[in-house]
Amino acid sequence: MQAQIPAELRRRFRAARRVCVLTGAGVSAESGVPTFRGGGGAAVWKGMPFDVISSAAMIERDLKSVWEWFDYRRDLIGSVHPNPAHEALARWQNLFGDFTLVTQNIDGLHQAAGSREVIELHGNIWRAKCMACGATEMLSLEQTRLRPPACVECGSEMRPDVVLFGEMLPMQDFTKAANKAVECELFFVVGTSALVYPAASLPEIAKGAGAYVVEVNPEPTALSAVCDETLSGKAGEVLPLFDVRDEDTLF
Ligand SMILES: [Zn+2]
Repeated sequence: MQAQIPAELRRRFRAARRVCVLTGAGVSAESGVPTFRGGGGAAVWKGMPFDVISSAAMIERDLKSVWEWFDYRRDLIGSVHPNPAHEALARWQNLFGDFTLVTQNIDGLHQAAGSREVIELHGNIWRAKCMACGATEMLSLEQTRLRPPACVECGSEMRPDVVLFGEMLPMQDFTKAANKAVECELFFVVGTSALVYPAASLPEIAKGAGAYVVEVNPEPTALSAVCDETLSGKAGEVLPLFDVRDEDTLF
């Protein structure tokens, strides 16, 4: 199995001080998190397509239904667990002087695996945000309360703190991720075809700034051409292969 990591990449992994990883839906899917994309019965909620109920317009029109939809999704996510990919990335934060984990996932599984600082480009399904003052509050599965919840700071309505269709990414988080992409020596794209901009630009930014870019995906993607190395396979099977850092000492 270990042979699947090319020697050149293994050497770079050992020598790297600044490493950046971008994860996407594929990593969550390996834990059983439904992606709600690509059609199928699960992509419709109470007769509304996924991209309608998950839209900025629906927040304006029917906040209560948006909460019901996200309550349903939290219920699904509440029963899944981090997989070996999440666990490997949680270990990586201790291997490098500067490690940055950026995710497009909203399920909080990286944190559940022990990752301390995660740049969440699309928000977090376990967090509510005040629509007036921006105060945030973490939600738990056990919470049963009237929807929408009220802000403890100002009493205004709150919404799920996730980026919906028709909304911009949080610029501060994206800028931070882009700066890390510029600084890093190794950039991993894991479980995402990264076709959605601006997240898709992160590996390109890294590559342009001189990083060695590695893709981990079951299938080649549009990004493969940008990457220096494409490792075919599930993230949960490929990432743990990097754990053996000191194989040289065996000889
Ligand atoms: Zn408030």
